[in-house]
Amino acid sequence: MALGDLLIDLQSVAKHYGEGETRVDALRGVDLQVRAGEVIALLGPSGSGKTTLLNIIGCILDPSSGRVKLENEPVFDGRWLRRDLRKLRLDKIGFIFQAHNLLPFLTAEENVSVVLDLAGWPLDKGQKRALELLDYLEVAHRSREKPAHLSGGEAQRVAIARALANRPRIILADEPTAALDSKRAQLVMDLLRKLAEEQEACIVTVTHDEKIFDRFDRLIHLRDGRLLDS
Ligand code: ADP
Ligand code: MG
Repeated sequence: MALGDLLIDLQSVAKHYGEGETRVDALRGVDLQVRAGEVIALLGPSGSGKTTLLNIIGCILDPSSGRVKLENEPVFDGRWLRRDLRKLRLDKIGFIFQAHNLLPFLTAEENVSVVLDLAGWPLDKGQKRALELLDYLEVAHRSREKPAHLSGGEAQRVAIARALANRPRIILADEPTAALDSKRAQLVMDLLRKLAEEQEACIVTVTHDEKIFDRFDRLIHLRDGRLLDS
């Protein structure tokens, strides 16, 4: 697929935690551009800044300095430029969290439709969309189960359905295949790529999983808060 719109644009993004003797520079001068259709991996040793970077792209964490544009909209420039960050996240970002993070007291279907409910979808439309996505991900037959009754692979596909429910164009994932065997891991990555192409989205994934490196368009290496190449 030809590369599309610029979806993520970070300019000179830095992040430090703490001050003085306890200060940790987690990101330094990070420039990163990601376009629609791209599936990229963030690699680097523990503590190199991967999660910090993902959380800044996801507008969960504020940079200490720098500029962030998402879908060509400036969202951070020394301060957040929108007051409704929650709405911004719901509209633009799909987060696939580590270790699934499904809500244990909701069924698979409810775990997906709750996101649409929050985004203001009418209940029946949200339920329909949730079931369609679960069907697409081949877990519709498990839609009434609670997460505790799902296998690791099933729970991960429900988590993916939840991240994609509101058709975000920026999909962020922290180790989405860590709990899966290599065949399932490759299937999940193939599925994410297909969805990225269909929804003109991009995917940024933190991974250590060498079995899936060949599934990415770009491997971006982080060391001590700096990007080595992109
Ligand atoms: P990675 O995901 O690559 O392991 P992180 O982004 O989690 O890296 O962390 C980058 C650096 O920032 C590490 O040195 C880590 O200890 C530090 N760090 C992360 N989160 C916090 C925090 N909330 N408070 C203080 N230091 C933090
Ligand atoms: Mg991390």
